[in-house]
Amino acid sequence: MTFRNFPMVPRVVFGCGSFNQLGEIIAPKRVNNNSPFIFLVDDVFQSSPFAERIPLEHRDKIIFINADTEPKTSQVDELRDGIKQEFDELPSGIIGIGGGTLMDLAKAVAIMLANPGSSVDYQGWDLVKNPAVYHVGIPTISGTGAEVSRTTVLTGPEKKLGINSDYTPFDQVVLDPDLCAGVPVNQWFYTGMDCYIHCIESLTGTYLNAFSQSYGEKSLDLCNDVFCNGTLPEEESREKLMMASWHGGMSIAYSQVGVAHAMSYGLSYLLGTRHGVGNCIVFDHLEEFYPEGVKQFKEMVDRHGVEIPGGLCADLNDAEFDTMINVSMGMVPLWENALGKDWKQVITPRKLRNMYEKM
Ligand code: NAD
Ligand code: ZN
Repeated sequence: MTFRNFPMVPRVVFGCGSFNQLGEIIAPKRVNNNSPFIFLVDDVFQSSPFAERIPLEHRDKIIFINADTEPKTSQVDELRDGIKQEFDELPSGIIGIGGGTLMDLAKAVAIMLANPGSSVDYQGWDLVKNPAVYHVGIPTISGTGAEVSRTTVLTGPEKKLGINSDYTPFDQVVLDPDLCAGVPVNQWFYTGMDCYIHCIESLTGTYLNAFSQSYGEKSLDLCNDVFCNGTLPEEESREKLMMASWHGGMSIAYSQVGVAHAMSYGLSYLLGTRHGVGNCIVFDHLEEFYPEGVKQFKEMVDRHGVEIPGGLCADLNDAEFDTMINVSMGMVPLWENALGKDWKQVITPRKLRNMYEKM
């Protein structure tokens, strides 16, 4: 047996207001005054006072990006080409500020600035040859674990698949819970539940080991504090959810996710359903696989008065169902983690169709 030798984020700063240190953190990484830092920033901050706090010097540049759609390979290639055209030197660093969407874009652009061709060529496992440009992740919403993960999930012309590589993780992460202050409740819940579902899928999976369990249990405790136990002061709640996301990401790094993610990939591929809400839509129907987790999930939905969309699959035709089913059944390690090597005895196309029809 070969054990995976797993890269981790080498530097992290945590604390309310820690964003103010960004300038001094990145300064030593500046190659020269012509080599800019490029800040990829969620456009929700475009005319907010926060944007004024981004520490620009010399030729540094902010690119605001809309996060309504998840990252695409074409978008990554265009960003890379635009940066290369505008500047004659490689950037000193790429800094992603936002949720999973902006953090994944920053990781992918940093890789593609240092590697030839299209990002499509690197979707998969360990295909990246050259180390990425220095890159920093700064989450402004908590749950995906993209701030610690070894992947950047991209939708390409043929597949939705991550660039999984040792060069993908951030060189630096800034965890400032204050940056999450403006997240709307529904989105807070959907992205937060991504973390909760990571924990349930990791902790009940057949791939579980002490490494994953130690992070998964801590993350689940923090999720319980945030979503179940009374009402925490807002600041404490933001701090805890940020650390839950981190630990949840660490947990799945050494295990795998499960049924909700496998099925939500199908929804996302066909309908463009976004990750957080897609996981919630699916998880709501998974009592059979995760009885305790789903019971608690439903309580949390009620408690926070959040709406989980339904009826997505009401008007789909056979070919569309088949597409979703094929994408989902293609996620072999996820099914294997959830149900063991003989998962195909439980999960058949017919079974998946019945489940999707309820969503
Ligand atoms: P997101 O980045 O898509 O953002 C969701 C919404 O929240 C957007 O409308 C955004 O503008 C808004 N938002 C973000 N921060 C805000 C703030 N502080 N105030 C107000 N609004 C704010 O959300 P997400 O759920 O964090 O990320 C989903 C993406 O992450 C998907 O593309 C998914 O594929 C990816 N993902 C990646 C990994 C990984 O390991 N790389 C893991 C899970 C998910
Ligand atoms: Zn997820």
